[in-house]
Amino acid sequence: MTPITNLTDLINQRLPAELAGFMKSAGNMAANGGEKLYLVGGLVRDLLLGEANLDVDLVVEGDAVTLARRLSTGNITIHHRFNTAKLQWRKWTVDLTSARSEIYPRPGALPSVKPGKLADDLFRRDFTINAMAVALVPQSYGQLIDLYGGLYDLERRFVRILHPISFTDDASRIWRAVRYEQRLDFQIELETLRLLQRDIPMLDNISGDRVRYELECICNEQLPEKAFKRAGELGVLAKLHPSLSGNGWLADMFDQARRISLSGQKLADLYLALLAYRLPDIDREQLVSCLRLPRALARILRDAGSIRARLGELANTKLRPSQIYHLLHGYSSEAVTANLLAGDLPPARRNIQLYLEELRSVKPVLAGHDLIDMGVTPGPGIGEALKLILDARLDGTVKTRRDEERLVGEWLATN
Ligand code: ATP
Repeated sequence: MTPITNLTDLINQRLPAELAGFMKSAGNMAANGGEKLYLVGGLVRDLLLGEANLDVDLVVEGDAVTLARRLSTGNITIHHRFNTAKLQWRKWTVDLTSARSEIYPRPGALPSVKPGKLADDLFRRDFTINAMAVALVPQSYGQLIDLYGGLYDLERRFVRILHPISFTDDASRIWRAVRYEQRLDFQIELETLRLLQRDIPMLDNISGDRVRYELECICNEQLPEKAFKRAGELGVLAKLHPSLSGNGWLADMFDQARRISLSGQKLADLYLALLAYRLPDIDREQLVSCLRLPRALARILRDAGSIRARLGELANTKLRPSQIYHLLHGYSSEAVTANLLAGDLPPARRNIQLYLEELRSVKPVLAGHDLIDMGVTPGPGIGEALKLILDARLDGTVKTRRDEERLVGEWLATN
């Protein structure tokens, strides 16, 4: 088979015509300014693989900020430190960076960067399959630039780093290798695997924010359990926390999570809550702090643990609906769902299901101002009366507005 050397047809066939048109005119505009422009990264890889991807990453041998200003039809965000811009072109978001080379002052540190050529920019990337480019200037439009054997690895389905100290420089690439391998059904190439295992201790040098980012990327994959399983086998997951496991139980939980995921819940957050579900409190807290989880996500993990600690109470089959409600009300819904899936007491899970499907949306008809109109004194009494009618609604002893009014009337008579 003749190797593909020009991607013009693939661009025209696989990308929306509007986006293909943008790339052509962006290439013209760069050329008019005497600069060279390239499409790089994941989109090149996915065009060659036939996978859907509309994330346009462009690299210019020149000044990205000036070119971005000329190209943009909307908002533009500039990072002067790295000379990169995120620009809006019609409904599309495009990343544009100046070609640069990177040097890592020490393992895991942010690299120091200086302007470079395309070859430098591709060399700083994680894997050969992500280090291909397509020329966009008119004289060579569509031409594939494959300096590091990306096409060879794509055909053989290998994830391969570009140089032996790649994982030492940036151990977050270890997580990335696992993610791409599992997403694409590739294999981490043998020497890359050896170096990955050698450099696992380097994961300690990576900041919590960067590890969290890589975990979020995994949780946004279609089947994150595959990457967690592989990370478990390689000893990468244990670096996150020794008690974490990516076993069949987790795969089963994730599968169920996809089936039941409720509206308004972020599946990625639910996955993380399930990953951490079986950790004792102290270990969960360690994970929360080492990943510097944002407050809302930390709350989901903690809530999941608190509910887990109350599963014994929730397993009581004689609980009234209002009691179930008050045991679960106030916890984040992802945490409740995590317990529905992972809780090990079936009667508790049935009560949790009742809460999620029915009880949590029950509301009394009467509001605080109705109660004041009926003669309830503003203050704590309002909360008390509202709870009374809510509980009665939950337990099915009141059904209509009139029932609620009657109940408040009785309460007023005795208070
Ligand atoms: P996809 O997940 O489909 O590859 P993407 O291409 O947008 O999406 P990003 O994570 O946004 O992936 O990264 C863009 C490009 O930047 C990648 O193709 C990769 O070459 C490079 N890159 C990202 N992170 C690193 C890293 N830690 N080290 C080296 N290169 C990286």
